[in-house]
Amino acid sequence: MGLVVQKYGGSSVADAASVKRVAARIVETKRAGHDVVVIVSAMGDTTDDLIALAEQVSPNPAARELDMLLTAGERISMAVLAMAIHDLGIEARSYTGSQAGLITDSAHGRARIIDVTPGRIQAAIADGAVPIVAGFQGVAQDTKDITTLGRGGSDTTAVALAAALGADVCEIYTDVDGIFTADPRIAPKARQVPYITYEEMLELAANGAKVLHLRCVEYARRFDLPIHVRSSFSSKTGTFVVSDISRAQGDAVEQPIIAGVAHDMGDAKITVVGVPDKPGMAAGIFRAVADAEVNLDMIVQNVSAAATGRTDVTFTCPQADGQKALAALEKVKHEIEFEDLRYDDDIAKVSLVGAGMRSHPGVSATFFRALSDAGVNVEMISTSEIRISVVTRTESAATAVQAVHTAFGLDADGEAVIYGGTGR
Ligand code: ASP
Ligand code: MG
Repeated sequence: MGLVVQKYGGSSVADAASVKRVAARIVETKRAGHDVVVIVSAMGDTTDDLIALAEQVSPNPAARELDMLLTAGERISMAVLAMAIHDLGIEARSYTGSQAGLITDSAHGRARIIDVTPGRIQAAIADGAVPIVAGFQGVAQDTKDITTLGRGGSDTTAVALAAALGADVCEIYTDVDGIFTADPRIAPKARQVPYITYEEMLELAANGAKVLHLRCVEYARRFDLPIHVRSSFSSKTGTFVVSDISRAQGDAVEQPIIAGVAHDMGDAKITVVGVPDKPGMAAGIFRAVADAEVNLDMIVQNVSAAATGRTDVTFTCPQADGQKALAALEKVKHEIEFEDLRYDDDIAKVSLVGAGMRSHPGVSATFFRALSDAGVNVEMISTSEIRISVVTRTESAATAVQAVHTAFGLDADGEAVIYGGTGR
């Protein structure tokens, strides 16, 4: 008997039948003698639909109101899930993020959790009820306005509540069996791993893996809270995200060299053409971009052409920030005296991640050989201690991921099962 926190994603509660199926699963855990706290996402594509609705009404929806609108999605799922659990003879009570004590800052659309005061949740548990908490939302400490944590934020709600409640584990239910060595949607030979470290999961999530929200992994690492990612469509054991694989597994297994291959199609590449090659120019470019609150990823500067004394500076950023970045650069064009701007969002980033890279030579050689044998052209390269990433054309992404996956011996014998629809 322990405290289990379970989070169900949108694809696990997509319609009435799924809601009932999830309810049965929760009741089963409860009847097995555990206390259960549930975090739920909006049903299916509800959040996307609500965003589309807002955009029909207003080209640039007010941030406070957009948050209020989006939190309605999770209110629907938490209420219907509680009803379904009631019908199975167990008391369930739904709570908004605010009621559950999720206190955030007031940055609408990307609020950060600054405190968790789960008094009402603890009281519900003490009463023998199952609290059902709306994911991805909270209330701002200063303004008292309703906030959202950013897309995919229900994972973070779950981990934050699990940590605050001192849960033994946070189970994240999704539409695949666990964490895979690549996205099974583009790499059918992807293999499920039993364990992965926070460190590797952070790199994968930061580089496009959508199975877990980046901030949820950061949070879990901070509290050393194990996450169990598993499917709500099967009863198989999924993947545990932990700090130390040998410790978690309890025997002397060596950690695999490579954890997986991630891809990201959401970035754009901006090239500032003909930048005078003198001190302060890069600083000017990146100051302008930073002031527009654009997050950069990779940066490359070419060697300058001797004849002109000018160079090109290329960087990547989220597509959603692309126009903002261009506008900010356009404003400093005369000051920096660059010649032109180029924008390209037909790119994909492919990343190889593994803590073993630190101590195993030859990983880069195998990686680039695999890409070249597959005819994939590399446009940009960046690395961290445990990651190598390249930018390539969008149309080459699947080929690149599959080639690298095979080259590192990650291919499974069978094909991965995908139960749901959206990848969230
Ligand atoms: N419903 C929200 C979204 O779709 C939050 C979540 O699913 O975690 O982004
Ligand atoms: Mg969702």
